[in-house]
Amino acid sequence: MLSYRHSFHAGNFADLLKHIVLTEILEHLIKKDKPFDYIDTHAGAGLYDLRSDKAEKLGEYSNGIGKLKPQEWPSLASYFSAIRSCNPAGNLRFYPGSPLIASHFMRPQDRATLYELHPSDYKLLSQSTRDNRQIRVLNQDSLEGLLSLLPPASRRALVLMDPSYEIKSDYDQVFKILKSAHRKFATGTYALWYPVVDRHRIRKLEKLFISSGIRNIQRFELGLEPDSAERGMTSSGMIVINPPWTLFEQMKTLLPRLVEALDEGKGAFYSCDILVPE
Ligand code: SAM
Repeated sequence: MLSYRHSFHAGNFADLLKHIVLTEILEHLIKKDKPFDYIDTHAGAGLYDLRSDKAEKLGEYSNGIGKLKPQEWPSLASYFSAIRSCNPAGNLRFYPGSPLIASHFMRPQDRATLYELHPSDYKLLSQSTRDNRQIRVLNQDSLEGLLSLLPPASRRALVLMDPSYEIKSDYDQVFKILKSAHRKFATGTYALWYPVVDRHRIRKLEKLFISSGIRNIQRFELGLEPDSAERGMTSSGMIVINPPWTLFEQMKTLLPRLVEALDEGKGAFYSCDILVPE
């Protein structure tokens, strides 16, 4: 039984990295009129109330989105426009998860499939996306369902994989699914989020990608503290297969500024790497 609920963590520093990368990819996809498919394999609840007991319990958003003033980040205008669209009153109360960020950028010709396994979050996700008929929400295991969607009819797609990594085997499993997905649909863009709790596990995951035979893989990391065996998640990263050609330079400019904004004197850091060139 799944116990992870994203509502405790919404808007934290890990969401910042994930959703900024997501926004940059979506912005690139909408540059062409051709339709695209968005597939979110671990969609969560869709919308998070930052004043809820869950969000307030850990207050993680205050070390993430709470630290950024939109007017100081013109290069993140699109990301902030997605947040603004969920906050008609103006102040930051609701934080959009990946499905609502994606739907903010979707045009009438685009389609989304969202998987969410947790019954309560599935219900919330269905509610938060109910007005958009281009979106299909599935209460199914995406690791079983993803391959059946590929290749999509549009032949242009972004697959976001954002597992909760509740089981240690999740790391190997997501890699296996990604490799099979890439075999079925090699031109798609795939973005995988991972937490750094145990660096050893991430090095292993990295090696799997490097030796996979898949080309054009980049990796972006943002951490609040150096790696530690004691402190839980200290950083997180995104591995992107077939990124937009602009992504690397954009992240190389943005990440040092984000580190400066989030650093509380505990050694915040970033990295941008080409794991496998084109
Ligand atoms: N992607 C969301 C965002 O950025 O707003 C957050 C997702 S949260 C980190 C991970 C979600 O995946 C949880 O809500 C969990 O219930 C769901 N989940 C875990 N394993 C799953 C699976 N095999 N298939 C579908 N959903 C799954």
